[in-house]
Amino acid sequence: MSTVKRRDETLFCERCGISFLWSVEEQNQGAQADGQAAKILSYCPGCRHLLPAASRERGLVKWYNAHKRYGFITRRHDPELYLHGSQLQDQRRLFPGDLVEFSIGANERGPAAQNIQVLERAPAEEEAKEIERETKSQETRRHGTRRQERWSQANP
Ligand SMILES: [Zn+2]
Repeated sequence: MSTVKRRDETLFCERCGISFLWSVEEQNQGAQADGQAAKILSYCPGCRHLLPAASRERGLVKWYNAHKRYGFITRRHDPELYLHGSQLQDQRRLFPGDLVEFSIGANERGPAAQNIQVLERAPAEEEAKEIERETKSQETRRHGTRRQERWSQANP
């Protein structure tokens, strides 16, 4: 069995085109059983940081119902994905426009996001609008109940 002598190699990023160093250390980490270093590093360190981890995806929250604890994520090429609040890892709720990273799993109804991490919050004004909208709909519900009470008092 021959030992492969490795040295640092210069690679070009498939995404942004800059050159970066593929160190011997990284080559050894990626070495396979047959001694061949796997060329999995097609992206530079900067792009690797920007891209989701292996088997993870990123998307934007389309909407999230904090009361019912579910919502949907918009994805770039795929249909919208269902999400349930129980899968939130580091936040208690989501807002439209939040950038999230997640794995794809399934529940009894179909595909669903799992282990959802918020990478970047939506702009604060989006959050404020959403809270205002929720407050209004709660007020509408309260007024609606009062109207119904008056109606039932008037029509015993
Ligand atoms: Zn790059």
